[in-house]
Amino acid sequence: MPDVDAATPRTTSRAPARNIVALAGGIGGARFLRGLLAALRASEPDSTVTVIGNTGDDITLFGLRVCPDLDTVMYTLGGGIDEAQGWGRAGESFAVKEELAIYGAEPTWFGLGDRDIATHLLRTRWLADGVPLSEITRRLCERWQPGVRLLPMSDDKVETHVLLDDPASGQRLVHFQEWWVRLHATVPAAQILAVGAAEASPAPGVIEAIRTADIVVLPPSNPVVSIGTILAVPGIRAALAATTAPVVGVSPIIGGAPVRGMADACLTARGIETSAAAVGELYGPELIDGWLVDDADAGTVVEGVTVRSRPLYMTDAATTTALARATLSLADELRTLAAH
Ligand code: GDP
Ligand code: CA
Repeated sequence: MPDVDAATPRTTSRAPARNIVALAGGIGGARFLRGLLAALRASEPDSTVTVIGNTGDDITLFGLRVCPDLDTVMYTLGGGIDEAQGWGRAGESFAVKEELAIYGAEPTWFGLGDRDIATHLLRTRWLADGVPLSEITRRLCERWQPGVRLLPMSDDKVETHVLLDDPASGQRLVHFQEWWVRLHATVPAAQILAVGAAEASPAPGVIEAIRTADIVVLPPSNPVVSIGTILAVPGIRAALAATTAPVVGVSPIIGGAPVRGMADACLTARGIETSAAAVGELYGPELIDGWLVDDADAGTVVEGVTVRSRPLYMTDAATTTALARATLSLADELRTLAAH
């Protein structure tokens, strides 16, 4: 008898490996990326994902350098996130925060957890030793194994600051986190500034990743203070505009409102309407080829961009994976269109 196994040609060929690049903020980005990794595991396990993370939210607190968006991506994909909250560590305690409050030390409004502090202590020590943020992030990811290559948008310090237009106290400039976490963006912002962005350079690997990408994704991250800040680093916007890879964005706005958080306050500060159409137009055909909006926003038109409606709520693993699949399908469709 012939050896059947040896004689039978292998018919199960693996899907080709692709380089997928995503720009990401914190929660919206991280949750989408978790769905993307699940979708890829099932259909093209050899594909790789490079994440270009926003560092404009970074802040120094009690001497510690905190990178909220990078850490949210790292903890979410590495299985260490507080699921209900969407940021910070699971099983967190706040003994240090409580002790600081007893001393009357300010600020008290930022939720620095004990476990989280270990990450910030290490990062701060390495920064003091002159290690670039991209290398520090790589080292931290050795522990968390997020399944993506996580790159900060820049190794240079960029911080989003907000010029408050407070009727009570007039105009004053505060760190983005003070506006967002302490004031819940209730005081109108006259301006949102990415301080240091104009002088910053993309981190090593960022431009190369976009240049060699097969697909670029803009997850449903905040279009102003997450994606917008990444795009403010000179070279990144141009690389995105120049890539021949399909670029697909997912709307963080559904039915005229953000799904969570106060992205509407950020859009208002820039004079942009809070709608899926307006955010699609903000990116426009210069940056995106495809735009996914929720079924509630079906009929949205963005000139020069292919718009599709799908369910965009990332309520659980299944809906999030389905959203990632829809994003990949739209990218494939756009590639086919471009080839004809
Ligand atoms: P942050 O840095 O933690 O604020 O997170 P991101 O910038 O990555 O994402 C924030 C955005 O995610 C918000 O504007 C939300 O509207 C959006 N978002 C959160 N959950 C969902 C969801 O389930 N579906 C969609 N489409 N957007 C979401
Ligand atoms: Ca953020």
